[in-house]
Amino acid sequence: YSLNMCKLDVTELSPLVTWEEGGEGEEGGFPWKKFKLISQAYEVLSDPKKRDLYDQGGEQAIKEGGLSGGSFSSPMDIFDMFFGGGGRMNRERRGKNVVHQLGVSLEDLYNGITRKLALQKNVICGKCEGYGGKRGAIEKCSVCKGRGVQVLVQQIGPGMVQQIQTVCPECKGQGERINPKDRCDNCNGCKVVREKKIIEVHVDKGMKDGQKIVFHGEGDQEPDVEPGDVIIVLDQKDHSVFQRRGHDLITKMRIQLSEALCGFRKTIETLDNRVLVVSSRPGEVIKHGDLKCIRNEGMPVYKSPMDKGSLIIQFLVQFPEHYWIPREKLCLLEALLPPREDVMITDEMDQVDLADFDPSEQTCRNSGGEAYEEDEEGPRTGVQCQTS
Ligand SMILES: [Zn+2]
Ligand SMILES: [Zn+2]
Repeated sequence: YSLNMCKLDVTELSPLVTWEEGGEGEEGGFPWKKFKLISQAYEVLSDPKKRDLYDQGGEQAIKEGGLSGGSFSSPMDIFDMFFGGGGRMNRERRGKNVVHQLGVSLEDLYNGITRKLALQKNVICGKCEGYGGKRGAIEKCSVCKGRGVQVLVQQIGPGMVQQIQTVCPECKGQGERINPKDRCDNCNGCKVVREKKIIEVHVDKGMKDGQKIVFHGEGDQEPDVEPGDVIIVLDQKDHSVFQRRGHDLITKMRIQLSEALCGFRKTIETLDNRVLVVSSRPGEVIKHGDLKCIRNEGMPVYKSPMDKGSLIIQFLVQFPEHYWIPREKLCLLEALLPPREDVMITDEMDQVDLADFDPSEQTCRNSGGEAYEEDEEGPRTGVQCQTS
């Protein structure tokens, strides 16, 4: 047998791949059946009448409609090969989602806010209702026969067929053309116009950084396409006083040593502009770094804004500067403070200097460090570095 592989004319999409009958079977390793299936599917796709039959009634309609070749097992599989599923182009598609970022303050997330955003989007032209021109003026693209795509089948080896699908360059995938004089003057035949749309974004109490607010179907409109969504992503700006951690707010509060020891009273302005008074009980000692919390003064819980987290306060105790008190008065202070601890000094002990330490400074100058690397079990404490 011989195989005549036509070089396909891309503008005509016909004739189809043909071969001489009589070579049925797997002779010579040539996968005849498979090849035939592809060819038949291709025939359906490239013939508008057969394609319409398929679109309306599926494979059975084509069989009954009298497709030339014999039986084929699963034309859907073949369609999938051509079109990646469904066998239909430009139908039941969904438009792209559009994502916008919306900067919000912590106050906005605490109190809730409504923001108006102006979007530029494509909407179906109202004048031509998305036809692009007068109803009668629309013709099928002669290049792609109205399909918007061109499928090129190439033989790339014995029994190997490759299909290449491209967007029709003539109609840019639209599948139709409109005579310039009949084009809609509102959209210039584009079927859609650019429009400004205002959307109201409701930022609810308790929403958080990165949370998405979805406007279903507000994406660009296009004929025969379900519009995608507009998605607003919240981007919370840093706050000068509060940090958020889940439902809790964290703030740092500086207090003087006298306040830490003798008690304090301070105010905090909340995110909704109330003023809270916080105080320590007499005799209560606040240590540097201590954490305290005020219940129900944190962030509102999303969708349950009456519930709130905690406001956590971290105390930073401000110690006085060096020599803040005359030396002769130290004994007065000492008399009030808890007693000092003293140690017994003997002659065997070494008196050393206490210097200020800079964490970025390298105190252990171990040349090459080889001595330590051999002894991984050994203690590597600062003790080894203290004396010279
Ligand atoms: Zn129009
Ligand atoms: Zn075309």
